[in-house]
Amino acid sequence: MDKSPSEIPLTPLPNGERLRGKSPLKAFLFDMDGVLFDSMPGHAVAWVKAVERYGLSMTAEEVYMNEGRTGAGTINAIALRTWGREATEQEITDIYAAKSEEFNRYFEAKGEAPVMPGVCDVLDKVRARGLMRVIVTGSGQRSLLDNLNHHFPGQFTRELMVTAFDVKKGKPFPEPYLMGLQKAGITSAEAVVVENAPLGIQSARAAGIFTIAVNTGPLPDSALWDAGANLVFPDMFALADEIDSLEL
Ligand code: MG
Repeated sequence: MDKSPSEIPLTPLPNGERLRGKSPLKAFLFDMDGVLFDSMPGHAVAWVKAVERYGLSMTAEEVYMNEGRTGAGTINAIALRTWGREATEQEITDIYAAKSEEFNRYFEAKGEAPVMPGVCDVLDKVRARGLMRVIVTGSGQRSLLDNLNHHFPGQFTRELMVTAFDVKKGKPFPEPYLMGLQKAGITSAEAVVVENAPLGIQSARAAGIFTIAVNTGPLPDSALWDAGANLVFPDMFALADEIDSLEL
């Protein structure tokens, strides 16, 4: 995996030019899994085990490539290729419940999903600049959503949050990020997204938002660039180090 820092523009752009355009920056929109929480290893194990119970199969790499889709979207995609049809409402409910159970079991054994190393530094710097923090996630995982305030005190509010329960067409469609902009009352030019997954990057770029990818998982950087990322950082510490010198 190439994580060369040479891919990151470290010098200021000429003439006060900004990476993002001329609108004043008002908000950072954060994905949750693989950005706020180092939860993807648990999701990978949980999906592989849960779909197996229903005679379906999915590899861990596919979980990472499909990250960001709603549970229903993921289940329908693998149902289509194995059964030749979409899953029924009941199947979706059952398989997603099995996946949530496996996810909670994975982190019960290891303690809860850890906060992503370095992300609190990023959040503190964003807050220090007086910018809004919005969460835009495809997740419906109550155990993570309900614990946001505990792990990130004072950073997020329920009003500035888009989850699996809010959208009809999840990532990679633009709807989740467009809804995030709407909830914050801002335009795409006034926001920056922080994402870790190809489909999340596609969603954010389709919504017209400047997108910073942080490669916190096993995929090659090329998967994030190919999805349309404007910048790719190797981890949250690297982003925290550079966030104030990027001409956003
Ligand atoms: Mg993610």
